[in-house]
Amino acid sequence: MTDRRYEQLSWKIGDVSVTRLVEVVIKAPINSLFPERSADELSAYDDWLRPHFLDADGDMTLSIHAFLIRAGELNIIVDTCAGNGKKLPLYEEWVDLNTPFLENMATLGFPADKIDRVLCTHLHFDHVGWNTHQVDGKWVPTFPNARYLFGTAEWEFWKDEEDPYESNALDHALKPIFEANLVDLVDSTHQICDEISLIPTPGHTPGHVSIHIQSQGEEAVITGDMFHHPLQMAKPGWIDAADAESSLAEKTRVDFMQRFGDTRTTVLGTHFATPTAGKIVSDGSGYKFES
Ligand SMILES: [Zn+2]
Repeated sequence: MTDRRYEQLSWKIGDVSVTRLVEVVIKAPINSLFPERSADELSAYDDWLRPHFLDADGDMTLSIHAFLIRAGELNIIVDTCAGNGKKLPLYEEWVDLNTPFLENMATLGFPADKIDRVLCTHLHFDHVGWNTHQVDGKWVPTFPNARYLFGTAEWEFWKDEEDPYESNALDHALKPIFEANLVDLVDSTHQICDEISLIPTPGHTPGHVSIHIQSQGEEAVITGDMFHHPLQMAKPGWIDAADAESSLAEKTRVDFMQRFGDTRTTVLGTHFATPTAGKIVSDGSGYKFES
């Protein structure tokens, strides 16, 4: 039986196809991301948070995955997960990964040399890892024929910033891409092609963006880490320890739910466990995720 947490999921948004490729699924206590919060405070939302997003112990199930997009002639990867062989002292689950990520991409019709664009919603280690891979002890671009699009504001922030995760992503996943002249720094509303553009969703990081897809009257958004977990739709104001600016992150979440809530827009969560996709629906005075 296939493990549903890792199963391949695909969606069609008009003429655009989106496929999820999971690198790793982790279990994390609520208070590891939301200090001093617990699952007990979420019992009112059990009907939509369990069993997919909260497990029997009340821990969060978080999926680290990339989205592979085909739009016309373009092959795009959104967020490149953590990568193999990276040193991540703070996260046991991610140390020295050795997953068949690139082989799986090729099987899905996205061999690395056929990727045209790499989009990173932000520059945390679990969104940039496969930007590079190691060849003869050196970190080199994984997608040599792609343009890598990084947000200007995001890069300006991280290029001199201490890495809070001690992942050294700057040296092994970002600088080699600049050195290979594969980076385009873009603004937070950049249009990638007719169907796909960025929307600014700052707060988790200063230059964080989400990915907006529109085709044939259908619409979807890839969240990035504006939402780490669907529980934040019920609790947008819970302090997320990983957000750089808590109040801005909360405002971004609320604005986003007001814009896309109760619409037909499909929301694809970057760390949302299977089934990953759903709609934002109003629920009393707040919102819920209907997957
Ligand atoms: Zn993340």
